[in-house]
This record gives sequence, C-alpha cells and structure tokens, in this order.
Amino acid sequence: MNIPIKTQTSASSRVLAGKVALVTGSTSGIGLGIARALAASGADIVLNGLGVAGEIGRTREQIATEFGVKASYSPADMTRSTSIAEMIAATLAQSGRLDILVNNAGIQHVAPLDQFPVEKWDQILAINLSSAFHTTRLVLPAMRLNGFGRIINIASAHGLIGSPFKAAYVAAKHGIIGLTKVTALETAEEGITCNAVCPGYVYTPLVEAQIDGQAKAHGISRDQVVRDVLLAQQPNKRFATVEELGALAVFLSTDAAASITGAALPVDGGWTAH
Ligand code: NAD
Repeated sequence: MNIPIKTQTSASSRVLAGKVALVTGSTSGIGLGIARALAASGADIVLNGLGVAGEIGRTREQIATEFGVKASYSPADMTRSTSIAEMIAATLAQSGRLDILVNNAGIQHVAPLDQFPVEKWDQILAINLSSAFHTTRLVLPAMRLNGFGRIINIASAHGLIGSPFKAAYVAAKHGIIGLTKVTALETAEEGITCNAVCPGYVYTPLVEAQIDGQAKAHGISRDQVVRDVLLAQQPNKRFATVEELGALAVFLSTDAAASITGAALPVDGGWTAH
C-alpha cells in the first residue's frame, strides 16, 4: 500500500513556459494536482471549480508564488453552457491564447438503474461529459489559430469497463472517450492532440476520508480497507497519485507527445487488463 503524505513537485523543468492551461474542476483532488504540475512546468494556470472563495484565493496565490506563473480563477459552473462560454471568452481575452485544456471536473452518484434519480443523471452527464464538449468546441478556434493545442480529458477506468450502480458515471466516462476520439480525428493535422486519461483509484483527500470510516464500519484495519475494499479491483494494490496524473498531463502537453492522439490511457494498476 502506498499513501504518500506529501510528494514534492519539481519546479526545475520549465518545458511549458509561455503556455496557458485551463483545468476544469481544479479546486481539489486530481484537477489541483494537474494544475500544480502544469504550473511547475512553467504554464500559466486558470483554475476552476467549486469551493470557499478564501481557500481558492489562497490556492491561486500559492501556485503563482511557488511556481512563478500567472494563476487566475474562473467560478464557471460546468452544468451551464453560458457560464462555460464566459470562462473561455474571459481566458482568451485575458491571455490571448489557450494552449492546454484539461477537462477534469466530475461528480459521482451511486444507485441502482431503476432508482437512479433523473436529476442526478442529468447533472452527471452535464458535468462529466457535456462540459467537455462545450470547452472543446469553444477553444478549438484559438488552438487552430496557433497551430498548437493539447486537450486532456480525465475519463476513468469506468470509461473502459462498467460497474453496477454507476449508470450515469459509466455512461458519461464512456462518452468522453468517444468525444476524445472524434476531437483527435478532426484536429489530427493541426498540431492539436486530444487524449483521455483513465485513472483507477487515485489517492485524494476524499479517499483518505473513507479509509477510517470503512475500517470502523467493517471492523478491519486501514491496510485491509485499502487492499480488500477500496483496491479490490486494482491488481497492483496501490493508489495512483495526483502527482503521477500531473506528470502524465505535463508529458501529454509537450512536443514529445505530438503523435499521441485519440488514445485512452489507463492509469489503473492493471485494473482494465483483466
Ligand atoms: P474531486 O471531488 O476532488 O474534484 C472534483 C472537482 O470538480 C472539484 O474541483 C469540484 O469543485 C469540481 N466540480 C464539481 N462540480 C462542478 C461544477 N458544477 N462546476 C465546476 N466544477 C465542478 O474529485 P477527483 O477525485 O479529483 O476527480 C476529478 C476527476 O477525476 C473526475 O472527473 C473524476 O471522475 C475523475 N476520476 C477520479 C478518480 C479517483 O479515484 N479520485 C478515479 C477515476 C477518475
């Protein structure tokens, strides 16, 4: 089991200096990890997501100070296409460019199909899938103008396989892999790539919060919760980390990844190899 308390992010390589990156849902978890990794590589960052204004302000200032980049924030609600359009327009007006788009915002709801709340279905499809359609269609003209673009869609192992009780999440994540392929094909000759990243279980504060609760509920140790409950499906019995996902996003954003497009890349410790 690996649960790093804190992993250092190296600020030594500025391979993305001069680039502007927008990461949806980057006020916590994977999105924040990716935003920090892109900033550590020199990209100016636009944060987005829900949360307490003061905390978001501190996160923004910390990224700017720690990595010497510009960091701004958009409160755009990913359920609303008009709000998304305002965010993209404001980013382009402010920075004059948008090189890297990470569609990461996502939520989950678990219920049997015949009891799945219709409003939850609509909300999950809007945040986990339709928001990526809107951001992508709106950034493509600017990327085409620059002859460069990197679109990274954070899907899931659940974009490649199903699990019971996750109808909306699995449908949205399969959908975003389809959107990834179409985006890649339509932009293939234009210096733009689009890929989906498919994490299995990732160590985030939300996961940490579940470990003690599950241990108490099942009367088992933390190690057993991680191995036999949370990571039951993950063959390497190890959480991926937000830093690992950040490093992959940085690589996909570089020139070295110019030929990787239309791919769905599992980061799942072998889960979908079953
Ligand atoms: P998280 O809850 O820590 O972060 C989700 C982010 O989305 C937050 O910043 C939140 O504010 C934002 N968000 C939610 N609703 C929004 C809305 N309406 N408008 C704007 N922003 C909104 O979750 P996470 O675990 O970091 O997940 C991030 C992405 O990774 C999701 O797409 C999720 O499906 C995917 N994923 C996570 C895991 C995992 O194990 N954590 C595994 C596979 C895939």
